[in-house]
Amino acid sequence: MFAVHLMAFYFTKLKEDQIKKVDRFLYHMRLSDETLLDIMARFQAEMQKGLGKDTNPTASVKMLPTFVRAIPDGSENGEFLSLDLGGSKFRVLKVQVSEEGKRNVQMESQFYPTPNEIIRGNGTELFEYVADCLADFMKTKELMQKKLPLGLTFSFPCKQTKLEEGILLSWTKKFKARGVQGTDVVSSLTNAMKRHQDLDVDILALVNDTVGTMMTCAYDDPYCEVGVIIGTGTNACYMEELRHIDLVEGDEGRMCVNTEWGAFGDDGALEDIRTEFDREIDRGSLNPGKQLFEKMVSGMYLGELVRLILVKMAKEGLLFEGRITPELLTRGKFNTSDVSAIEKNKEGLHNAKEILTRLGVEPSDDDCVAVQHVCTIVSFRSANLVAATLGAILSRLRDNKGTPRLRTTVGVDGSLYKTHPQYSRRFHKTLRRLVPDCDVRFLLSESGSGKGAAMVTAVAYRLAEQHRQ
Ligand code: BGC
Ligand code: MG
Repeated sequence: MFAVHLMAFYFTKLKEDQIKKVDRFLYHMRLSDETLLDIMARFQAEMQKGLGKDTNPTASVKMLPTFVRAIPDGSENGEFLSLDLGGSKFRVLKVQVSEEGKRNVQMESQFYPTPNEIIRGNGTELFEYVADCLADFMKTKELMQKKLPLGLTFSFPCKQTKLEEGILLSWTKKFKARGVQGTDVVSSLTNAMKRHQDLDVDILALVNDTVGTMMTCAYDDPYCEVGVIIGTGTNACYMEELRHIDLVEGDEGRMCVNTEWGAFGDDGALEDIRTEFDREIDRGSLNPGKQLFEKMVSGMYLGELVRLILVKMAKEGLLFEGRITPELLTRGKFNTSDVSAIEKNKEGLHNAKEILTRLGVEPSDDDCVAVQHVCTIVSFRSANLVAATLGAILSRLRDNKGTPRLRTTVGVDGSLYKTHPQYSRRFHKTLRRLVPDCDVRFLLSESGSGKGAAMVTAVAYRLAEQHRQ
């Protein structure tokens, strides 16, 4: 009996040693609440900068007006098309909204591949491809005879002067098609659709995926006034008082602002917390110097961050008895889905063994414990950082309303948030500590971004109809 206890003690001790070793190595990635509150304050200042007319041109956080002023009120009606481009998957949807009885949305959708030749090739071909997919969808669903309004979810920073226009400011994530930056995405797609004579659709709205997510959730919960994406990329939007948005005329009511928080830090505001691994990720990316916050947070980069850490630890003899394999040295060989698998409660260590064996490093049990902890630190940092920026938005909403306590709903979507086993719990918990004066309800928005574009289109359509009457 005593021996069993001693053994258990011994293994716990070994495990603790591994964890301590990693904690020491990644000291710089573990952010205290004090630091997070500081980052929250910095982001608050960045938002202010983005909103001001004189400061906006040099602001890294662009705070883009979206021209979405109203959330759905339930009286929307009709059949809409929507395209969802720029997230982890490209999708075409048909959304049927009906007001009969209670709020009711029916969807049919189809995913299409986005090969690198298309998303990093020529812009004209990218839009022709998108139009081809839309035509294919309409043929299979026998919609060709109908004239349907379309909403385009386009998950990149766009400058808008109206709902049905969007000038691409810069590509992010995996996209880099030539000749699109600085041009209107809506007219490019409209032109591409002209090649299909039997296609008769009207693009009524261009929306960011955060806006789509917020609108989808707002259809079910009218208190929803924030949309957050934690997926391939990361970003958030929220309802701002029009009187605070210098770039748009008018003082009455509110408008949704797309923060583009992924660019937080592009002016150097996060240099003190960025690590050598963050800099290495940035150097190897499609957009060096850009989206620095996103590169510390989102699903496109987390796996790669872990891989870079493992390489360095192995080089210093802290892992795998110093073994380094070609696989371990290959970019992209360790994915964010691997981070999720390794952080699973029960099978985590078993998954670690499998994944590391695949990389050829012959991991010991101790290695698996250490690697699991590396994953935890990297994904925890991500959740903490997003809690800090979301905390800044919530404080701002609370100030805007002038209430001591804010009660609100946040719509969330994105592959990392949805599939990582611990992410959402940690994110919510940190947020509650950072903004104790905000009561937040989180709503997961299933296929929110695509559905939301249809909702925006439906609202635009309803308002236009009212106008005609
Ligand atoms: C884009 C945002 C988008 C986010 C999530 C970022 O890279 O700049 O517009 O909302 O990814 O998809
Ligand atoms: Mg998406």
